[in-house]
Amino acid sequence: MSGPLDLSLTEAVGATKSGGISTSELVRAYLARIARWNDTYHVFLDVLEESATRRARELEQLSAEEREALPLYGAPIAIKDNLVLDRGSTTAGSRILEGYHAPYAATVVERLERAGAVVLGKANLDEFAMGSSTEHSAYGPTLNPWDPARVPGGSSGGSAAAVAARLGLAALGSDTGGSIRQPAAYCGVVGLLPTYGRVSRYGLIAFASSLDQVGPITRTVDDAAALLAVIAGFDPRDQTSLHEPPPAVFPEASVKGLRLGVLSSYPDGMDPVVRAALEQTMRALQDAGAHLVPVELPEPTRALAAYYVIAPAEASSNLSRYDGVRYGLRKDAEGLYALYDETRAAGFGTEVKNRVMLGTFALSAGYYDAYYGRAMAVRKTIAEGYDRIFGQVDALLCPTTPDLPFRLGERLADPWRMYLSDLYTVSFNLAGLPALSVPTGLHSGLPTAVQVAGPRLSETLLFRIGRAIESVAPPMPAPDLKEGGAA
Ligand code: GLN
Repeated sequence: MSGPLDLSLTEAVGATKSGGISTSELVRAYLARIARWNDTYHVFLDVLEESATRRARELEQLSAEEREALPLYGAPIAIKDNLVLDRGSTTAGSRILEGYHAPYAATVVERLERAGAVVLGKANLDEFAMGSSTEHSAYGPTLNPWDPARVPGGSSGGSAAAVAARLGLAALGSDTGGSIRQPAAYCGVVGLLPTYGRVSRYGLIAFASSLDQVGPITRTVDDAAALLAVIAGFDPRDQTSLHEPPPAVFPEASVKGLRLGVLSSYPDGMDPVVRAALEQTMRALQDAGAHLVPVELPEPTRALAAYYVIAPAEASSNLSRYDGVRYGLRKDAEGLYALYDETRAAGFGTEVKNRVMLGTFALSAGYYDAYYGRAMAVRKTIAEGYDRIFGQVDALLCPTTPDLPFRLGERLADPWRMYLSDLYTVSFNLAGLPALSVPTGLHSGLPTAVQVAGPRLSETLLFRIGRAIESVAPPMPAPDLKEGGAA
């Protein structure tokens, strides 16, 4: 396959601006591919064909000067379905929001559209972004474009699969404990968790507010930088938003002289293929002039335990708003409490219910200190641990996930095994630090990836290292989509 769908975001915007391809042609090419493959791979929950087509035509009416001012002119983009939009449906992958139409658009989407992007549709996700495989979507799983018998990761599985499968030029995801980076790794694309507060959460359906961040999922590191430059920046509608200008768009690629932290040991259960890919990248960066410094991650297993107390605790509070009165689903029942009970029993899936119960328990009188208090203490230790590490090194190189994309159904009965795929991602959310996942090639047809993390607001440095990783990794081909999937 080659043609408009193979252009990266940066290339496509160049082509639409110069008139090499019209915005309508580009959008039409994506919509046609979505029409061909979405039923099989189940990437989008809602395809906004009409509004995307209209928007592409409107963009064509702009003068050359007006086009030039739009950094994402004509770029067709997928949006995770936990970002609200003033058209189409917004479900967050849950039955409880089935048929819900939001009255406004999230700040990030507004900024994308103001920059000339075209929203193609709402991408599938685990219900309320709780999961690592997209199998917890109430509307059925997304399939991995590299192997339809495997998961695309999660919770932003639809966004990552869209970008990998050429059903979107780029996408937005959200990351609370790994939900951008883990699916990006499993789908062979780039994913960035920005510094906490860098990107507005206004209009992102809240899961765990002290951890949630919106970020880009793209084919290249430059594309991620281009998207971040548009969505980042202060927003008065998000109280945790930072007064920081968006980071620079075109970072250099050299790692010469940089001190890169690398793991001095690996926990059990790490896939040898993932380890080999990481070590190969380490050697290549060393050859390119980086100094590798062995470091120890602050408490990876306790980070996971702390995350699975803090995130459910915040979720139990955030999800109390779905009560059958204000949004979406409402069950007929006798009296207010029965209405709450029946609506929530019917509207939430098992994983969401488990987490609401776990979180409510962790916050309840008598248990608060033992669970939530301890988890918050671990969170503080982790943040201090990273402060120390980033006193010694410029950035840290580690796996994104300990494993390769697993088979559909394989981990549904064993939540802890499912949670383990977040082993290397959660601690950066707990510490509020930025982290970038970059693909490093294919092994037996499945993508491998590495993660680069840095101190607060170091996104430009991460892009620079990410570019260097791209330059030493083999180029990622497009996956060969097939009919089929889970048997
Ligand atoms: N997989 C993790 C979870 O299930 C992270 C989810 C996320 O980042 N939204 O909570």
